[in-house]
Amino acid sequence: MKTRLIIFCTFVLLGILLAVPIGAQDSPTEPPPEESGLDPVTTPAPLPTREPRPAVFAVTNDDRAGLQTFFIGTVPQGETRLLRVVGNDIESVRASWLNEEIAFWPAEDNNFYGLLAAAMEAPTGSTPLSVVVTYTDSTQSILATTLDIVNGAFIVQNVNIPATKGYLLDASVERSELARLESVVHQFTLERMWDADGFQLPILNALTSPFGAFRVFNGTLSTRHTGADIRTTLGIPVQAMAGGRVAYTGLLPIRGNYVLIDHGYGVYSGYAHCTEVLVDYGDLVERGQIVCMSGDTGRTQGPHFHWETAVNGVWVNPVQLLQMWMP
Ligand SMILES: [Zn+2]
Repeated sequence: MKTRLIIFCTFVLLGILLAVPIGAQDSPTEPPPEESGLDPVTTPAPLPTREPRPAVFAVTNDDRAGLQTFFIGTVPQGETRLLRVVGNDIESVRASWLNEEIAFWPAEDNNFYGLLAAAMEAPTGSTPLSVVVTYTDSTQSILATTLDIVNGAFIVQNVNIPATKGYLLDASVERSELARLESVVHQFTLERMWDADGFQLPILNALTSPFGAFRVFNGTLSTRHTGADIRTTLGIPVQAMAGGRVAYTGLLPIRGNYVLIDHGYGVYSGYAHCTEVLVDYGDLVERGQIVCMSGDTGRTQGPHFHWETAVNGVWVNPVQLLQMWMP
């Protein structure tokens, strides 16, 4: 009798285990395209990952310091590039490019690294870069070169939002929201808060709408896409792309419930259209920490997640920034 009961219980338990698909509680069900936000891609591209450390190229030098790049030649509009200064007895390094003042951070290899960011609307063509190296004895040297900004090859998208959100098609609403955020992302914190693992996707799902797109809303308002969209449903956890400090939270007309994180040295990331925000202004967050839950607040045509990044005060392609090797 006892043996029969044990066999019966084993079969019941096995039945329950087989009926629950593995990972069903963790992975969101794939939403139908019409619910997934803006212009969903039909064949999702592989999720972006961080590239290995690239080769370094000498650009210019004097007898005390050298300027190096991790790329050759050109910077497309909306992209970020890494610079390195090598030398002995360096106290600090600053650069000036496209009206941006860039502070370099010291790394474990005794070199200094800095980020260049080309705005999506930056004029194409040759642009002077001036790097000021200050030594421990207070003397300075200037390393000067030019870099070419090239066309970012952005796409055009038509977006229709519901008539109930028609009041968000006022260009002045867009301008004042951007001005508010840009006053924050222009602040430069001399503290590197990301770690050696670099940046991660806030939601592990397909990218549906690219950075920089020229967008026409309901056939009238023309804007630019300041970030990239990720497919999601309501209430999916949104993770900080790296460590940092919460620089802004609040309900914005276009971005809805929004979180903005300062990662230091001019790098910021923003998380938009959330249902619920789980952090407060001033909080320190770790890479992967849940900062909000995805939603459809603000100017949306359905649930989707808008992820944006700024470097040195300008919006840059978050996917390209994630892929970049960073010390
Ligand atoms: Zn978006």
